Amino acid sequence: MPTANAPFAPPGSGWPEDPATPDTPVAHGAGEVVELAAKAPDLAELCARQSVCRACDRLVQWREKVAVQRRRAFADEEYWGRPVAGWGDPEPRILIVGLAPAAHGGNRTGRIFTGDRSGDWLFASLHRVGLAALPHSVHAGDGQRLIGARMVATVRCAPPDNRPTPLERTACRPWLAREVELVAPGVRCVVCLGGFAWQGVWPALKHAGYGVPRPRPKFGHGAEALLEPPPSAARRDPVLLLGCYHPSQQNTFTGRVTEDMLDAVFTRARDYAGV
Ligand code: SF4
Repeated sequence: MPTANAPFAPPGSGWPEDPATPDTPVAHGAGEVVELAAKAPDLAELCARQSVCRACDRLVQWREKVAVQRRRAFADEEYWGRPVAGWGDPEPRILIVGLAPAAHGGNRTGRIFTGDRSGDWLFASLHRVGLAALPHSVHAGDGQRLIGARMVATVRCAPPDNRPTPLERTACRPWLAREVELVAPGVRCVVCLGGFAWQGVWPALKHAGYGVPRPRPKFGHGAEALLEPPPSAARRDPVLLLGCYHPSQQNTFTGRVTEDMLDAVFTRARDYAGV
């Protein structure tokens, strides 16, 4: 029998790697996201604020409904049920950008790309090329660690059908923009997993002061663009933007994405960034 489950893990209640406390300020609308993101003094506080956000009514309802109903395979697990914050090296050379957490992946485990098939493929590849300490990422607090890399999502809450609305993407953008800004001094390479991440990262890069090419280059697996670094960057040579097909089940089952293809992109990122 499934145990009774809460709609979300209360901040500061002991969930491993929980960045927030009961005192972390909560955004209740798009305007408050703008303000709380812009005023976050550092990465730790920014992630804490991301992780308690309640700005998008539809997504809050969805993530909490999923957390209460749960999938049969996880019927005895507590779900995170909150936005999934950026995670990894606080001073990364590589920034990996995804679309949004999965309902029974990040929304369950409390960590981006953790506890679902896409994450299994992704972390296995990162481990093979030396960017992750372990080949699997199972749950927040499992000992996994990114090496010289950080992962973020363009939308921080699990959306129904993996499809956030344009308004939800816009509402969530300040979290991404501020995170890109805070890590920009050391970032040498940005890897976008899928076309939505590729589209979603441009406004955040612009906000952080990167010089972006016009017209914007088209997304593709292995697509590359060179960006002028922002004034805060430690080095003046170009930052590399890399496209990578998303390791979704649909892509991996059909062979559109293979292990070799993922490894090639992350090897390129690792070598360019000098990790
Ligand atoms: S999608 Fe982003 S802005 Fe909307 S509730 Fe989640 S964290 Fe907040």
